[in-house]
Amino acid sequence: MKKVPELLMPAGSFDKLKIAYMYGADAVYCGVPRFSLRARENEFTMETLAQSVQTAREWEKKIYFTVNGIPRNSKVPSYSKYLKEMASFKPDGFIMADPGLIMITREEAPEINVHISVQANTMNYATVKFWQKIGATRVILSREVSIDEIKKIREEVPEIELEVFVHGAICIAHSGRCLMSNYFKNRDANQGACNNACRDKLQVFVTNPRQNDELMPMEEDEDGTFLMNSKDLRAIEFLEEITEAGVDSIKVEGRTKNDYYVALVARTYRKALDNLRENKEFDRNLLKELDKVASRGYFSGFLTRGMEDRVSVEEREFQNYKEGLSRIQSQVYVGRVNKFEPTESLIRIEIKNKIQKGDVLEVYSPGKEFTNTFEVTEIFFKNQPKNVISGGMGEVSLKVPYEILENSFLSLV
Ligand code: SF4
Repeated sequence: MKKVPELLMPAGSFDKLKIAYMYGADAVYCGVPRFSLRARENEFTMETLAQSVQTAREWEKKIYFTVNGIPRNSKVPSYSKYLKEMASFKPDGFIMADPGLIMITREEAPEINVHISVQANTMNYATVKFWQKIGATRVILSREVSIDEIKKIREEVPEIELEVFVHGAICIAHSGRCLMSNYFKNRDANQGACNNACRDKLQVFVTNPRQNDELMPMEEDEDGTFLMNSKDLRAIEFLEEITEAGVDSIKVEGRTKNDYYVALVARTYRKALDNLRENKEFDRNLLKELDKVASRGYFSGFLTRGMEDRVSVEEREFQNYKEGLSRIQSQVYVGRVNKFEPTESLIRIEIKNKIQKGDVLEVYSPGKEFTNTFEVTEIFFKNQPKNVISGGMGEVSLKVPYEILENSFLSLV
C-alpha cells in the first residue's frame, strides 16, 4: 500500500464539516469570520468551532482553524483573547499568514501547530526553511508553484509537512497580493471580504485622436468579455506526481460552496486517493464526476508547468472569457435526504431545483462508493401529489424504489 496525502476539505458551517467527513475527508479547515479569510458566508462561531473539534475527535479526523487574515492595527489587540479561546479547543493546527499574529501565537500558545497559509506566498525552499525556523510544522505552498518545484522544496527541506491546493477557484492575481476587490468595491480580500472583482464583466475602450478621442468599446461578443476570470483548479489527474513530489496534504478550496459540492468533491478525491494507495491506475471517470458540480471550467493551474504534453489543449487555456460565474455543470443539485420513511418508501428532501415525474435522479450516499439512480414516479408537497415541483419550495417527499440513507445527495442526470 502506498502512503497518500491527507484529503483536506473546506467547511463554511458545522453542517458542511460533518458532510466533508462523511464523504471521505481526513481533515477539514474552518474558522470564525473575524480572523479568517472568509468573512462572508461563514457561519462559524466559537461555539460551533468547539463542537467541530469534538466531532473531529469522535470521528478520528483532523481539524485546522483558519486564522489567515492580514489584520490592521485595530484588530491586533483583540487577537490574544481569540487565540486563548480557540487554543483551548485544541485543534490540530492554526492556518496563519500574518507574521505578527504568528509571533503572538508562538509566544502565547506554543503548543498550537502553525501551518503557513497560501496567503503567505511560499514559492521556494528558502522561504520554507524560514518558516520552519520560526516553528511552523506545515507550509501550504503558493498556488503558483509547479510539481517540479515542489520536488526540489521537498529535497531541500525534508522535515516539514507540505500542503498544496488541488481543486477549486483560483485567483488571477498572485494569491494574497490582490487589491482588485479593494479598488473596485472597497472590499479587502486580505480581510476575507473579496468580492471576486476579477470575475466581473469588463470592457476595454479604444480612442482614435482623429475622431475627437471618442471612446469606443471593444467587445469579444455580445456578452462582453471577462478579461481576468481564471478557470478553476482541478489537479485530480496529477495526484500520483503530487504524492511522489512529497506532498503531505492536498487541499480543496471552497468554504462558501454548498453541501453538495463538499460531498461530491470529497467523495471523488477520496476515490482517487484510495485508488492511488492501492496502486491502481487513475480512473478517468473521476474527471466526469467533478464536471457534475458547477465550475468556471477546469485547468490544472501552475502545478503542471513544464508538463504541457500531459495537459489537454482545452486545459492549456487558463481563462474563461465568456462567463464569470460558476455555471458549467453536467448535473443539477436536487436536494439532500433529511429522512427515509421505510413504511411508505418515501424520502424527504429540501428541494433545490425543479424536478418532474419521469426525471432520473442520481444518488450519492455517505460511505458508499457506487452511485444509484431512480426515476421520479411520485412527488408530494404538503401531502398533496404533484407532477412537477420547483426549487426553493421547502420540504417535499419522493417515492423511492429502495432505502436511501440520510444525508445522501440527489442530482438530476
Ligand atoms: S479579486 Fe479575484 S484575484 Fe483578487 S483576491 Fe479576489 S478572487 Fe483573487
